[in-house]
Amino acid sequence: MQSSVLGGVPKRPMSAGITSGITANLAIGILLTVVTIFGTAWWMAEQHDKQANQSLERMVVGGVDLTRRRLEAITNDYGWWEEAYLAYERGDAEWMDANIGTGITGTQIADALAVVTADGTVGTAWTVDETPEAWKAIFTPELVARTGKLIADAKVDRLAARSMFFAIAGKVYLIAVQRITPVSKAESVKGTDLPLVVFAQEMTADRLLELGRQYLISNLRLGKVPLGVSGGGGAHGSEILDDADGKPVGRLLWTSPRPGRDLLLQLAAPMFGALLAFVIVASLISMRVRGMALALSQSEEEAIGASRSDSQTGLLNRAGINALMAAPDCAERCRMGQAVVAYLDVNDFKAVNDTIGHHGGDQVIVELAARLEKAVGGHGHLARIGGDEFMILITGPDVVDDMARLLQRLGRAMAEPFMAGSFIQHVHCAIGYAFSPRGSKDLHESLRRADIAMYHAKQSRERDGVCYEASMEAGNEERRRVEDILRAALQKGELSVVYQPILNLASNRIVRAEALVRLNSAIHGSIRPDVFIPVAETTGLIEEVGAFVLEQACRDMAHFPGLNVSVNISPVQLRDPGFVAMLTGTVNKYGIEPKRLELELTEGVLVAAPLIAGQRLRALRELGFTLALDDFGTGFSSIGYLGQFPFQCLKIDRSFIVNLGRSVKDAALVHSLVSLCRALDLEVVAEGVESDEHRVMLRSVGCTAIQGYFVSKPVALADLLAFMAEWSKRQDQSTEPKVRLISARHPVKHTGNAMG
Ligand code: C2E
Ligand code: CA
Ligand code: CA
Repeated sequence: MQSSVLGGVPKRPMSAGITSGITANLAIGILLTVVTIFGTAWWMAEQHDKQANQSLERMVVGGVDLTRRRLEAITNDYGWWEEAYLAYERGDAEWMDANIGTGITGTQIADALAVVTADGTVGTAWTVDETPEAWKAIFTPELVARTGKLIADAKVDRLAARSMFFAIAGKVYLIAVQRITPVSKAESVKGTDLPLVVFAQEMTADRLLELGRQYLISNLRLGKVPLGVSGGGGAHGSEILDDADGKPVGRLLWTSPRPGRDLLLQLAAPMFGALLAFVIVASLISMRVRGMALALSQSEEEAIGASRSDSQTGLLNRAGINALMAAPDCAERCRMGQAVVAYLDVNDFKAVNDTIGHHGGDQVIVELAARLEKAVGGHGHLARIGGDEFMILITGPDVVDDMARLLQRLGRAMAEPFMAGSFIQHVHCAIGYAFSPRGSKDLHESLRRADIAMYHAKQSRERDGVCYEASMEAGNEERRRVEDILRAALQKGELSVVYQPILNLASNRIVRAEALVRLNSAIHGSIRPDVFIPVAETTGLIEEVGAFVLEQACRDMAHFPGLNVSVNISPVQLRDPGFVAMLTGTVNKYGIEPKRLELELTEGVLVAAPLIAGQRLRALRELGFTLALDDFGTGFSSIGYLGQFPFQCLKIDRSFIVNLGRSVKDAALVHSLVSLCRALDLEVVAEGVESDEHRVMLRSVGCTAIQGYFVSKPVALADLLAFMAEWSKRQDQSTEPKVRLISARHPVKHTGNAMG
């Protein structure tokens, strides 16, 4: 049942987007993790490599420098040599050969060695290459001139050697120069007067590899100077070799170590494995979470469905119909005056429940829901908004016709009696409906109006459904106002009880008094019971009112043992399963014999719930209470009830009595009614007796008792007691029955308000 109507209810399960969200978030999370891990590792490796290269570059520079310093030191040794100078001065070629030339030929300290005269020409030269004249290819005039220049500004000193890189015929040489100095005259000689010793060491691949080995620089080699490069090293594993003028002559290259990258490569496999494991685990978790979220969203949807539907009937509940009414399309229809709301309330459902039990009542509701749903069909939405309250919402361009047809279908649906177990029960609903006024932004106003119309339907017992009319507002407002006053009165103790005596015509004695409730509001003045009692009955306040009257009556009876009282019991009270207990509790509390208390009941309750009423009345009768059928002649006036239910008294309604002298028909009716009651051994009380003429007439037809202004208006207890005392005194004095309308207030001990 529920899904068809719920289909239109806007559902917003919180977890609706969770599943896709989780997947997306997880994917993003994994991606971010991977990128972050790899990015960080890559960055760290790069940093590591950069640092390694920087320190290697420093080592290359240091190695090259050390190579220069070594050659300079050797050159200093050869130059700062007294004997060498003397041999040079002597032109002792043999000595030179044996002591200087062997530095090249024997030790391979360098590749070439020359002694340059002070005037800048090569005096003697040696090379590792045995070929004569081979030195010329190295010690070119340009190099000789350049070495002269290199040492020129150096002081004459034992450590004065200078060095530079120099390119000769595509080869790069390390050149070192020192003056050949007579050490003993070093202080006095001029540098320019001294010959020079020049070493040339080629930067061969072997030498560089050896240098690399010493400094753990792999693949150190010489490369070409790239165009536009003027010096300085870089992260690429290269170092420019400059000559004395800063001109690049060669470039040292080596293979950059990449410890970071190597580490990364080493770690790559395990990292990849770990990542794979992570992705797998994450995916599994994702799938699980997704599954959980799906289950959650499903159960959430179910929960929303459940929260919006009535478990007993499967119909929408109040929340469900509210959600439906809040939907934009409904609001739009509302604005266009294309919506109608109907309220249905089962008449006297409490009586149904009390008669056939709650289980039976539930069965009736389920059956009723099914019938209503069939009647509504696809034309609208049906909701159960309370125990026995339903709501129907129809929207569309033809709401007026739709509603008319729906009312017909509803009428047919309710025509058949309901079966609940072995019981057959007729169920009727009060239906009130209201069309949404054009331009209204939501259904609030229509709901309010439908409620008012429903109340009117209930009041008038109209079965065809009542459409809201503006004129209903006044009554509604009044009803609300009275309800407020009554609530306040109950709280502030503004209710009181007055008594109207009932006179037995045969004995001419006051046999009892009817307790009648009064509401005297300090703010609003007095409100008549026939105004506030119906309000109390529809608002559930009647139980409190009834309990108050009963309590007051019992208290008064306890004080005055000669006083018997009739109390009015509303049908609503009688239907209350706790009523009998409340009643016996109260009489016991005050020690009142039940037979002193008469309970007046109207026919309504007998018609609506004959079974429960019969059951309750018999129970009350068994407990010893006296039962009176009140207002006879106003309602269904079925004589049958008198035999069917255990009444001892019948109260003929005032409307019959008023016409006694005027309508022969009414007089005949009263006559036969009295005869019948006498035959059934029932007491007959005529209500509303205002004149002696009535009294005489009623007495002549055999009426048992009278009640009315002719005897007394309803008065406060004190006045009643005084009245009764005076009445019995007169009665005792006079042989002729003498009655009169009570007029004076009699001062008595017990005081109270007189209101009639
Ligand atoms: P009712 O039970 O028929 O009570 C009799 C009503 O007729 C009283 O009106 C009374 O004042 C009025 N009445 C009595 N004699 C005459 C008469 O000679 N002429 C005229 N015109 N009226 C007469 P009241 O007290 O206004 O009560 C109205 C109705 O309110 C009662 O009708 C009864 O149905 C209901 N009611 C009053 N008290 C209670 C109560 O405590 N509980 C319940 N459930 N209903 C109550
Ligand atoms: Ca009454
Ligand atoms: Ca009455």
